Amino acid sequence: MKMKDFFAIKPSFVGSFPTYEDLPDSLEPEAAFIGRSNVGKSSLVNALFNSYALARVSNMPGRTQTLNLYNIASALMVVDLPGYGFANAPRDIALAWSENMRTYLKNRPQLRRVFMLIDSRVGLKLSDIEIMYMMDKTGVSYQIILTKIDKINAAELNTVRTECIDAQKQHPAMHPIVLNTSTENGTGLDDVRGAIFDTVK
Ligand code: GDP
Repeated sequence: MKMKDFFAIKPSFVGSFPTYEDLPDSLEPEAAFIGRSNVGKSSLVNALFNSYALARVSNMPGRTQTLNLYNIASALMVVDLPGYGFANAPRDIALAWSENMRTYLKNRPQLRRVFMLIDSRVGLKLSDIEIMYMMDKTGVSYQIILTKIDKINAAELNTVRTECIDAQKQHPAMHPIVLNTSTENGTGLDDVRGAIFDTVK
């Protein structure tokens, strides 16, 4: 399948699942999207697949946290994982999130890559770094996508990119390419589509 055709097919929503154990088994390769709440994950996932039906479950603090699964052209499953890192989440919810994530990472051999969204205005936070270590340990490949780059200038973009690229020295499972995106003006969307398409080849 060509990349153009892959992204032209309307993704189908498979379902929302409370924990990793509830996810249906599938043979297709899988890509996951994660990020702190409000990073711009729903906006990005919708923009990538030109579909407002996707990422429709908002991961607001206090709402039910679910893993949302989408089937893309019967060639790839996309998992939208609940947002993390919100300021005053009760500790038990944060721990449950982390356990759910760890189990998912450990038990999903078809998982090809995790796309980790980082708000370009904020940079890497402790909650991101904890998950990066978790993925290094489980050996799951992950790639950083900077979001909302329309909100910052060239010097700020350079600073945050340098921070992420420097972090690679500590994080062996991190993909060397850091992607820049803005759903506001469409910057970088085709680069992310290319990276997603790489995972199904
Ligand atoms: P989520 O919680 O990670 O799913 O984040 P959302 O996609 O709901 O976005 C959170 C907020 O950031 C919303 O107000 C969006 O309109 C805004 N946002 C998302 N992406 C961009 C972007 O590329 N540029 C700008 N300026 N705002 C964005």
